[in-house]
Amino acid sequence: MNLIVQKYGGTSIGSVERVQTVAQRIHKIAQKGNKVVVVVSAMGKTTDTLVKLASEITSSPCRREMDMLLSTGEQVSIALMSIALQELGQPAISLTGAQVGIITEAEHSRARILSINPHRIQRHLDRGEVVVVAGFQGISDGTDLEITTLGRGGSDTSAVAIAASLKANCCEIYTDVPGILTTDPRLVPDAQLINEITCDEMLELASLGAKVLHPRAVELARNYGIPLVVRSSWSDTPGTRVISPTPKPRYIDKLELTKSVDGINFDSDQAKIALLRVPNSPGVAARIFGEIASQQLDVDLIIQSIHENNSNDIAFTVSKNVLNKAEAIVEAIAPALRNSPTNNDEAEVLIEKGAAKIAIVGAGMIGRPGIAAKMFKTLADAQVNIEMIATSEVKVSCVISPNNSNRAIDALSKAFDVQLSETPIASNLVQVSPHVRGVALDTKQVQIALLSVQDCPGMAAKIFGTLADKNISVDTIIQSQRCRIINGMPTSDIVFTVSQEDLQAVHTSLDILSGSFTEVITDIEIAKVSIVGAGMLGQPGIAAKYFGALAEQGINIKMIATSEIKISCVVAKAEGIKALKAVHKAFELTEQETSKISVL
Ligand code: ASP
Ligand code: MG
Repeated sequence: MNLIVQKYGGTSIGSVERVQTVAQRIHKIAQKGNKVVVVVSAMGKTTDTLVKLASEITSSPCRREMDMLLSTGEQVSIALMSIALQELGQPAISLTGAQVGIITEAEHSRARILSINPHRIQRHLDRGEVVVVAGFQGISDGTDLEITTLGRGGSDTSAVAIAASLKANCCEIYTDVPGILTTDPRLVPDAQLINEITCDEMLELASLGAKVLHPRAVELARNYGIPLVVRSSWSDTPGTRVISPTPKPRYIDKLELTKSVDGINFDSDQAKIALLRVPNSPGVAARIFGEIASQQLDVDLIIQSIHENNSNDIAFTVSKNVLNKAEAIVEAIAPALRNSPTNNDEAEVLIEKGAAKIAIVGAGMIGRPGIAAKMFKTLADAQVNIEMIATSEVKVSCVISPNNSNRAIDALSKAFDVQLSETPIASNLVQVSPHVRGVALDTKQVQIALLSVQDCPGMAAKIFGTLADKNISVDTIIQSQRCRIINGMPTSDIVFTVSQEDLQAVHTSLDILSGSFTEVITDIEIAKVSIVGAGMLGQPGIAAKYFGALAEQGINIKMIATSEIKISCVVAKAEGIKALKAVHKAFELTEQETSKISVL
């Protein structure tokens, strides 16, 4: 007998007929002898409608009252589902978040789950009842028993948390798409269903998959090793399995980490190579990394940022033992790049033999401003200068001098209250992973470059701290190589992307900081294209193939940022879809054995 938690999203139960269809599906599974807990969202667009009602009264309703209002949507669903099940002869009971003891932080509208009391659910299951639980809601700890909600899309998180507390055999998320696709099928019609994806990949693909699966649910599934499946409620196709490595044992009484950072990775065995002032034209990155890949060298972090006079800086790290080889390759290409007609400046190669990479990781940083700023501030306070920065969805990586390693590790462990965890290495991963699992396009960002920021401890902290104070979420941040000496002080450029809506607020904040840099360059016509895959770890040539696919289409790369399992390029907005299609094809994502998915 299996204990299964199933979650049905709003569209799956958008009408009474759909509730009845889903009830039949649940009834069948229960009849096979399984114990079933069902978690439901509000019907259809109910939550949006409720939000709108409040907005007709005020543009800034109190968060407590909003929780009171929004939590009603799910209560309607559980009752109707339970009635539909009973009508089929299936014993069932509906329960609210409070009734099953979903205890959360007292943070209205974005509460995290602290614990769930499994006993009541268990009792009903033992009586042969299907238990229908309201997703998205809980009750605060302490004496006041306030109704809280988890944040939009949070019922996935409720489902996985319940699965973890009941030690369920699996958690199935039913939705209106067949599963997780290799990219957005509205943009690339031959997007394919992904049969299997790791939680880490799923988190880095948040901008592609967040609508299908809440990132907090993915993090919980990973931490507790809950087998997760995303599948369509309209068909019997198997969907996508979201898998996780065997988890470390964790307490069940602090379910969702209230911490935004889950671990610190460290690697002291790196060396850094920078190419300054290479031409800002299609094919340059492809050429550099193509040559490196042809020698089977694996590069780790790659950062490209703009530079004045239509040139770029590209910096990357390799492991120390291949530095000589990599250096020889780069020195050999550099003269050809110098002679390019678009490049008036001298290109220059800089080598740093010893470099250490330190990174903070955690899904909790998604959508929470200030985590990167806190890292930069912590390093600054410990007198550690940051030489390079690259961020991804769930990771902030900094390159520092190895002499500062111990201080940096100590300070960050203390500041984020986490341990040093092992940097993922290729051999720990499932070898069957494809190099690239999925490709995402984000056209909602704008790029801001701050030129000639003083290269000394505390600058990144000051800039991103100011933005975080204004509640601005920064998406990708890069700081490349130190490049110019101004008034005797070394400087470097810092480039980042933020959501379009925040642009005005960013400019206002930057006004306060003027004097910290020489120039601000804003580019609003950008698109970010990212490839994600655990199989790219330790695998030479992936970046080269990606940049090559863009070069073949004549697409210029404006910015590059990477993490271990992700490479993001910023290109011109007008070329975003073309880039997405080219990259999707280059990694043969259109040619998986799975059958073609119709666009929904
Ligand atoms: N009903 C909530 C929302 O629309 C929660 C959910 O659907 O996951 O955001
Ligand atoms: Mg959802």
